[in-house]
Amino acid sequence: MPVGTLANVKTITPAQLKDTGAQMVLSNTYHLHLQPGEAIVAGGGGLHKFMGWNGPMLTDSGGFQVFSLSEMRKITEEGVTFRSPHDGQIINLTPEKSIEIQNILGADVIMAFDECPPYPATREEVETATARTYRWLERCIAAHQRTDQALFGIVQGGVYLDMRSSAASSLAAFDLPGYAIGGVSVGEPPELIHQIVEATAPLLPYHKPRYLMGVGTYQEMAIAIASGIDLFDCVIPTRWARHGTAMVQGERWNIKNAKFREDFTPLDETCPCYTCQNFSRAYLSHLVRCQEILAYTLLSIHNITELIRFTQKIRQSIINGTFATDFAIWLDTSNESKVLSAE
Ligand SMILES: [Zn+2]
Repeated sequence: MPVGTLANVKTITPAQLKDTGAQMVLSNTYHLHLQPGEAIVAGGGGLHKFMGWNGPMLTDSGGFQVFSLSEMRKITEEGVTFRSPHDGQIINLTPEKSIEIQNILGADVIMAFDECPPYPATREEVETATARTYRWLERCIAAHQRTDQALFGIVQGGVYLDMRSSAASSLAAFDLPGYAIGGVSVGEPPELIHQIVEATAPLLPYHKPRYLMGVGTYQEMAIAIASGIDLFDCVIPTRWARHGTAMVQGERWNIKNAKFREDFTPLDETCPCYTCQNFSRAYLSHLVRCQEILAYTLLSIHNITELIRFTQKIRQSIINGTFATDFAIWLDTSNESKVLSAE
C-alpha cells in the first residue's frame, strides 16, 4: 500500500497511482483528524470520494503518530492526551474516538487503536503497552459501528518474542477479519525485524490477511512474505522520490549523480511505467537539479511501480513454486548489500 497520509499520495494523481498497479492505499487518521477533520471528509462523501480513489483503502488508528509525532502526550488507561501541532488545542484520543473517526472517514479496513512502545524500551514498559493494547482492542471492537469496514487487530510486544507470541495467540482468538504486526520499523536493526516477523506471523490465522505495518523495502518484504505476510505499507517509494532517489532493480540511485547528466536511457528498460516509457535519466536528472515538481511526480510513479512489480514477481514465483530459489538473494539475511537503509 502506497501511503496517502493526507488523503493523497504525494505528487501523483489517483489515475497515475492506479497505473502503477497499486491496489490499495493507506491514509492516516491522526493527520486527517487534525486537517481537514473527519466531518469535512464525510461531507465530501467519505474518504474514497473525497480523494477520488475508488479502490480499497485502509486507515491507521492514529496511535503510531500520537506516540511518535506529538509533543506533551500523556498516556492513561482511558487513552492518550496530546497537544495539536496545528493550534495547540488539547486532544484526547481513545480507542472509542479512534474507531469513531475511522467509521466517519469510511475506509474499507480500519485499525485498532494500540500503544506502540518505542525502541529501545524495557521489558516492563513493553509488557504494559502490550497488555493495554489488548484491553484497547476489546474497546475498539465494542465501539465499531460499521459492518462494511473490516477492523484489524494489532500485535505489539516490542522485540520480546515471547510477548509477541502470546499477544498473537490472544488476538487470534477474537476472530477478526485481519491482523497486523505493529511496533516494528521504529528504529530497531533489520535482523530484529526479521526475528519478530518470523516468530509472530505464523501464529496469526492462515486464512486472514496479515499486515506488517510500516515496512516495505525489497528485502524486508521478501523475508516477511516468506513468513506469511500479505500486506505492507511504506512511505519510502514516494519519500525517496522527493529526495531525488530512484529505486531501480533493488538498488537506490541518486539521480542527481553526475553520471546521469548525459545518460539518455530510461531508468529501467524493463519497467512499463510512464516515466520509463517516456523519459531519460538525463531528463530526470535535469528536473531534480532544478527542483521541478514534475521530477518528484515522475520518480514517485516509477518507485511505486518498481515496488509493486517486486511483489507481483514474488506472487508469481509463489504460484510457480520457485519463490525460495528465485528470491534466494533477497531471503539471505547475511547479504548486507541488499539491505537498503530506510533513512
Ligand atoms: Zn519505471
